[in-house]
Amino acid sequence: MNAISKPSSGAYRVVDHTYDVVVVGAGGAGLRATFGMGASGLKTACITKVFPTRSHTVAAQGGVGAALGNMGEDDWRWHMYDTVKGSDWLGDQDAIEYMCREAVPAIIELEHYGVPFSRTEDGRIYQRPFGGHMKEYGKEPAMRACAAADRTGHAILHTLYQQSLKHGCEFFVEYFALDLIMDDEGVCRGVIAWNLEDGSMHRFRAQKVVLATGGYGRAWFSATSAHTCTGDGGGMVLRAGLPLQDQEFVQFHPTGIYGAGCLVTEGARGEGGYLTNSEGERFMERYAPTAKDLASRDVVSRAMSLEIREGRGCGPMKDHIMLHLEHLGADILHERLPGISETARIFAGVDVTKEPIPMLPTVHYNMGGIPTNIHTEVLRPTRDDEDATVPGLMAVGEAACVSVHGANRLGTNSLLDLVVFGRAAAHRAAETVKPGTSQPPLPPRAGEGSLDRFDRIRHAKGNTGTAELRLEMQRTMQAHAAVFRNSELLREGVDKMKKVHSGFGDLRVSDRSLVWNTDLVEALELDNLVGNAMTTIVSAEARKESRGAHAQEDFPDRDDDNWMKHTLASMNEKGEVSLDYRGVKMRTLTNEVQVFPPKARVY
Ligand SMILES: Cc1cc2nc3c(=O)[nH]c(=O)nc-3n(C[C@H](O)[C@H](O)[C@H](O)COP(=O)(O)OP(=O)(O)OC[C@H]3O[C@@H](n4cnc5c(N)ncnc54)[C@H](O)[C@@H]3O)c2cc1C
Repeated sequence: MNAISKPSSGAYRVVDHTYDVVVVGAGGAGLRATFGMGASGLKTACITKVFPTRSHTVAAQGGVGAALGNMGEDDWRWHMYDTVKGSDWLGDQDAIEYMCREAVPAIIELEHYGVPFSRTEDGRIYQRPFGGHMKEYGKEPAMRACAAADRTGHAILHTLYQQSLKHGCEFFVEYFALDLIMDDEGVCRGVIAWNLEDGSMHRFRAQKVVLATGGYGRAWFSATSAHTCTGDGGGMVLRAGLPLQDQEFVQFHPTGIYGAGCLVTEGARGEGGYLTNSEGERFMERYAPTAKDLASRDVVSRAMSLEIREGRGCGPMKDHIMLHLEHLGADILHERLPGISETARIFAGVDVTKEPIPMLPTVHYNMGGIPTNIHTEVLRPTRDDEDATVPGLMAVGEAACVSVHGANRLGTNSLLDLVVFGRAAAHRAAETVKPGTSQPPLPPRAGEGSLDRFDRIRHAKGNTGTAELRLEMQRTMQAHAAVFRNSELLREGVDKMKKVHSGFGDLRVSDRSLVWNTDLVEALELDNLVGNAMTTIVSAEARKESRGAHAQEDFPDRDDDNWMKHTLASMNEKGEVSLDYRGVKMRTLTNEVQVFPPKARVY
């Protein structure tokens, strides 16, 4: 054990570890990578700030997409087309091809690992329709979402955790990863983490670090995501001087419970649920004549917002929309949607067999994140090489941006992204890392900069509490980076976020201890959230078009000539964001399918 001294705090106890690979995060993405690496004989550690099965993946309800064709004809090429179209042509087509093709074996593998999927009469995996998933390149809804009732994430996460234990992976539970350890050549050499239970600091040296830290929904006031979704991986990457990609694309889920923000799965509409306005009209028929209530999420969220804006919202304040399930009957609701029946009762006081549920679009998913190639290696694009990577660093899951979701993610494609790319990370590590290879010592003073930051925040003596500053950020993002955006709103949002960033200088942390210090954890999480929020709003302000989830009212059309490109946003210590761009990959990996050229997106 070492000790590193800080003038204000005395010495920090530092413990060093060496692994072949270290995964940060134990959600679906992190666990799929962890157990795959363990299974291929690599000495694997998984660091997680919450117990693995409490990761946000546990809350995923509706299903995981794969063209298995268990309930009617299906083809992975149709799935690929739907995903490209859903992404509003911002997704990289090679990555989308890879995901949709590999979906089929990756889901069959999950079945064999023991995921308790719901079943058809003849014993195959049950599949339901989901928004934006169609047959024959857009003709009619496809049955593609593989579901374990409305608790699919729960079923997958528990199975992956069991598999990780079976393969001897080592878990560091309730360890909070602070920063990457980078050397002078820009190689990632490990990660430093704080043990929340006893206050010790841990330096993990590894041949590969995999970031699987999830999304940053908590930068907004109303979000379906867990309070732990604070974009810590994105924060670490920004502090290492690396960019985040496509941060402006934020998915609002159409059906968050009004007031509470809890999710009602799109699977509810997949099973036949529908939306109405104050006139009782099924308004989606006007906005999306073919797909109706199962159009993609950005389309449905915008339609709901427009209905409310034009005075056809429900309730005394005319500020929400109704979701009807009562016509489905108690039996179907009990069998296929038990979880949401319970959520509606607890959070909206509604008996779904008798009355509709009040709904409002709510922040749900971050399409942007840490840019990677299809092998999950993190990109650091340069002028000469758009595909240059950061040696030693990988990223998977919602924290990453491969990019398969582009400007808008289809439902069921995130669980799929976790499984397919968690698996790809394991394959890549097995190819590139030799178990037990001796590693050079960590760079001198490894992790010291991170401990300086930690120490500074721990002893912050300003006037603004973490909760207060966080609320200011959340209100700013909710008002200025919402379903509809315009130039003025975005400019004001950038200014307000600058104030929030500089507000960090006046932060007050009251608890100085190192053991179960939630005050300090929340301050560190806020630091990460602010980096993510800042890059989001600056990237959004710069994008002068509307595409997918980015609906810019002053530029209502998609502009492929100027804007069919990924945003790369970096941020310095002062909170100044600089932007760069890289091309969308319009190529396929095999000749089994052609590139889908851009066209208008109608449902
Ligand atoms: C309510 C809800 C329902 C959803 N339903 C569906 C669905 O039906 N189908 C679908 O495809 N998608 C769905 N999604 C989206 C999908 O569930 C998420 O995008 C996905 O689960 C994210 O998984 P992940 O592994 O990337 O991260 P998470 O599951 O969020 O896990 C993040 C992990 O990182 C760890 N971590 C984070 N920061 C640190 C740190 N500093 N130090 C150490 N550890 C850290 C956490 O402990 C955790 O283990 C849903 C999302 C929500 C919120």
